[in-house]
Amino acid sequence: MRQTQRLTSDETGLAHAAGILRRGGLVAFPTETVYGLGADATNAEAVAGIYEAKERPSFNPLISHLDSFESAQGQGMFDETARRLAETFWPGPLTLVVPAAPTCTISDLARAGLDSVGLRVPAHPLAHALLQRTGRPVAAPSANRSGRVSPTDADHVLGDLDGRIDAVLDGGASQVGLESTIIACLGGTPRLLRPGGVPREAIEALIGMRLEDGPEGGRNPLAPGMLASHYAPRAQVRLNAASVEADEAVLLFGSEAPQGVESARTVLNLSENGDLVEAAAHLFSYLRQLDASGAATIAVSPIPEKGLGEAINDRLRRAAAER
Ligand code: AMP
Ligand code: MG
Repeated sequence: MRQTQRLTSDETGLAHAAGILRRGGLVAFPTETVYGLGADATNAEAVAGIYEAKERPSFNPLISHLDSFESAQGQGMFDETARRLAETFWPGPLTLVVPAAPTCTISDLARAGLDSVGLRVPAHPLAHALLQRTGRPVAAPSANRSGRVSPTDADHVLGDLDGRIDAVLDGGASQVGLESTIIACLGGTPRLLRPGGVPREAIEALIGMRLEDGPEGGRNPLAPGMLASHYAPRAQVRLNAASVEADEAVLLFGSEAPQGVESARTVLNLSENGDLVEAAAHLFSYLRQLDASGAATIAVSPIPEKGLGEAINDRLRRAAAER
């Protein structure tokens, strides 16, 4: 259990909240949509803490919040349409999914291993002030436990997460109460991934075209993999490997080495001392590195199905099934 502080919406509270975020802690804060559970998006262990606190059984890409369009341009690449949307609707309840910029510092875990980033500049003055003082992208899904309703005030947040996060910045009730509209601008026709606070009609009127629907099955599908909401390795993935075949890439967990590990092509350990938060923080970047080794198969040690292990195993099972 942590001691969860309720911070006031003044200079002292803001400075405190920003300090906690910069040190890798978890702070819930108000936005104009709902309260978000924030962590430094550039720090994968901090991001893993979000999943642990929410008890979320699976990883999905998180929205990174920024203080300005200028900051967002250091993280993502905006084509003409994305730029117009940002200039018109930011700050506000709009999330843009764009290709990650070469200067992107958002962690693999916050991106769920994808080459794209979900970015938003919120309009709530406290959120804005906090992001300015933090000086980093802040990953923030809704500040509730998995499966519960999104919180619109600090009491809702504490009802779900008291003792599980470091602080909540109390800014009264959120106004929109709806989540942000998510638009993917990844080349081709922009796509509506989730309806929310900015109506579809307003977006279509601005860009002068109809949005494609949903992540899949539109008339104009983008290049394969571009919009998949999950990163899939090219290699086969073999789970619960008790032994290793020659030339396999190996993803270990804990201090026990499987039989035959000497003949592996590459070996990475998610966490030598069996820490699931550390393991979650490494998961996507290690999968990528092992995939890049060119091995035909990635053999994975068993990972306990408890705490964050559930989300890690969910991701690995999908990777093993995706062919
Ligand atoms: P939330 O739970 O409100 O934080 O919303 C997260 C949602 O944003 C995800 O489920 C995706 O639909 C979307 N999203 C965020 N980042 C990305 C990304 N890089 N690629 C695709 N979708 C994203
Ligand atoms: Mg939610």
